Amino acid sequence: MIYFAGIDVGSTAIKVAVVDENGKVAGVHVTSSGSLFHKNSIDALNTLLNKLGLQRDDVRYLIATGYGRKLFKEADDSISEITANAIGAFETGKAYGGVRTIINIGGQDSKAIQIDSTGNVVNFAMNDKCAAGTGRFLDVAARNLELNLEDLGDCHFQASSAPLNINSTCTVFAESEIIGLLAKGHGKAEIIAGIHYSIAARTVRLAKRVGIEDRVYFDGGPALNKGLVAAIQDELGRELVVPEYPQTTTAFGAAIMARNEFMAEQSLEKA
Ligand code: ADP
Repeated sequence: MIYFAGIDVGSTAIKVAVVDENGKVAGVHVTSSGSLFHKNSIDALNTLLNKLGLQRDDVRYLIATGYGRKLFKEADDSISEITANAIGAFETGKAYGGVRTIINIGGQDSKAIQIDSTGNVVNFAMNDKCAAGTGRFLDVAARNLELNLEDLGDCHFQASSAPLNINSTCTVFAESEIIGLLAKGHGKAEIIAGIHYSIAARTVRLAKRVGIEDRVYFDGGPALNKGLVAAIQDELGRELVVPEYPQTTTAFGAAIMARNEFMAEQSLEKA
């Protein structure tokens, strides 16, 4: 069996996916990007290969994507995260009847991508200027509220009154606003639900810029947060498709692209 890999060198997390020659996932791995993007990317790839009992040579083609993709010089090719995300969402979205709009929230940016029925990108919009609608906002909120990131979702559903309005449009000001709300005696659950609704409103505005068509797919690390998923569904007025491993869709898309490019080259050589 031969294998193909995609590595998504994200601003916050490095994601690696390995697929076999049929495009089936062999394994995925997620680790923090830290400050040493290149070293941590190499380590992440080696960790996954070790876990799968594979050698580097078993991986015939590797594509890098994401914010830090240019640093990963060992890749055979690199593609934008828009393309990789679209491929990953198109492929995994088939199990849900197909998807046409992709919402991705990452550690430092958020995107909305529209794809056609064959998976081609027809439109996209990106917010990479402001941390307010991104995972960074959640990381800061979790720290202020002394909660684990993984617990924000459950906390959202414990709110006993309406989510609080978070008015600040900037993460730095929002941090002060959260502290101010805590000092007034407001509960953590109402505050975190308010933060989720604030991110949801921004996300839906971004998605509307590209046009929202069914089905709407939601991925990126923050899609692991069920409270945020519920808030976006509420703001959007429709259900979201959230894949089983939302943080690794883009790495998976890069791995699928690696497989397809390799197979295309092979058939050209044979012709
Ligand atoms: P990037 O590609 O920009 O590095 P990711 O898609 O990997 O971003 O998302 C990173 C963000 O995902 C983090 O900032 C964090 O807010 C969120 N996240 C990661 N793991 C979890 C989790 N288990 N539960 C909730 N949110 C998470």
